[in-house]
Amino acid sequence: MKKITIAIDGHSSCGKSTMAKSLAKALNYIYVDTGAMYRAVTLFALREGLMNAETKEINTLSLEALMDRVNISFAHDENGRLQTLLNGENVEKEIREMTVSNCVSPIAALPFVREHLVALQQKMGLEGGIVMDGRDIGTVVFPHADLKVFVTASAEVRAQRRLLELQGKGDTTTTFAEVLKNVEERDYIDSHREVSPLRKADDALLLDNSHLTIPEQDELLLKWAMERINA
Ligand code: C5P
Repeated sequence: MKKITIAIDGHSSCGKSTMAKSLAKALNYIYVDTGAMYRAVTLFALREGLMNAETKEINTLSLEALMDRVNISFAHDENGRLQTLLNGENVEKEIREMTVSNCVSPIAALPFVREHLVALQQKMGLEGGIVMDGRDIGTVVFPHADLKVFVTASAEVRAQRRLLELQGKGDTTTTFAEVLKNVEERDYIDSHREVSPLRKADDALLLDNSHLTIPEQDELLLKWAMERINA
């Protein structure tokens, strides 16, 4: 069967990773979460003292000089769950915390960070048979992807989902208002940055999942993928 390239873009917390992961599993394709890569660079910058988490000020010169020392890879844990590794260390839990969520969009707006990560992502997709999710996959990383999907849902629905996810991981302090603010801020920065702003590619299919269940969206996505594979 033909191995195609599938690009899934969209707003924060609209369930892109969940749907991209199950599609990759159904097709036996590689799945790449590019948001995790931007989050890992953010964690690196915070740990190295190159970003102030309060003011969001970034020491861009030093970060640029150190980019070659940022090695990001993925591995599966014993339960088959995908884990993000930063220089070999499993940082999956830390990159999902609010500190990183609050700092990631300014880091992702830096041209040299995007250049570095886009090159890595294009290398990962050379062979096809890949589902990649992010913000610029259909527009910049794989402009010739066989299937492009742009996912969205209302900010309130997305904040509620992210809050439940945080609570499921034991976070009992973050409030709905905080998560909603973070979702709206990231939407704004992601859509207004100069380099690769978040936008729907002209040839992307729109998937608004505000009122879809997970099985319903999985079914729709698999149908679209099979249409392209059999085309
Ligand atoms: O997908 P996730 O919410 O984990 O992504 C975290 C952040 O990384 C986004 O808010 C966005 O700023 C950035 N990002 C990006 N380009 C991508 C993936 C993520 O700018 N391809």
